[in-house]
Amino acid sequence: MSENNSSEEFETWVSNFCSLYGHDYFVEVAPEFIEDDFNLTGLSSIVPFYREALDMILDFEPEKPISVNDLPLVQHSAELLYGLIHSRYILTKQGLQAMVEKYEKKQFGTCPRYYCEGMHLLPIGRHDQPGVETVRLYCPSCFDLYLPNSSRYLNIDGAFFGTTFPGLFIKIFNEIENQIKQRNKKQYDLKIFGFKIHELSPVGSRMKWLRKVPRTKEELDELKTCEYQIANNLGQESEDDEGEHIDDDNEDDEDGEDVEMVR
Ligand SMILES: [Zn+2]
Repeated sequence: MSENNSSEEFETWVSNFCSLYGHDYFVEVAPEFIEDDFNLTGLSSIVPFYREALDMILDFEPEKPISVNDLPLVQHSAELLYGLIHSRYILTKQGLQAMVEKYEKKQFGTCPRYYCEGMHLLPIGRHDQPGVETVRLYCPSCFDLYLPNSSRYLNIDGAFFGTTFPGLFIKIFNEIENQIKQRNKKQYDLKIFGFKIHELSPVGSRMKWLRKVPRTKEELDELKTCEYQIANNLGQESEDDEGEHIDDDNEDDEDGEDVEMVR
């Protein structure tokens, strides 16, 4: 609060934007970063009223006065432009540092999965183009995506965080990777009278293998041979019939095996 008081005389557009309701996932982008044209390459073709929006973000007086009718459009463009600059900024050293402070304070929430033991989440966009999908949260422990649990984040564009951020974040702060490695990668198995439910059952733990990570030397060796086997099989099968193979790979196709038998 003391920081707010000291900057009360002149609140910048950026600090005001980041303090709005539901904008607490955003960090304040340093003005030097926004002023460097190199960092804004390509954005002028995406954002309407680009010049006016940029002036607004930097608290510059507009070259030409903005008409009352255009003002909401310029305001909207400024938010879009800021979001797109933000997605680039959080990949820089300064930006990552600002995000790690939020991450450590659990400001993006924690994973609801029991075996993730309250792993802190990271914001992510599944697309780098704005206007496609809202922000999602990524758990570095179970590799899954979650919707933010408060509706206040449901109109924030995923492109304002981008597809690269969590991957880079985990690589840079590799203590997170080490933390995950030490965790138990267990997945809960349902049982009936002590018997495990088969994976193929509708209530079984389907696709469990997707969450499995090879740990021991034997498992790693098995993975290697497994990859070779698939590669070799692919080569052989493609000589026979490429079409058949595509059918077999498609998991939605429940009758994949029957198709092969019929042909
Ligand atoms: Zn998780």
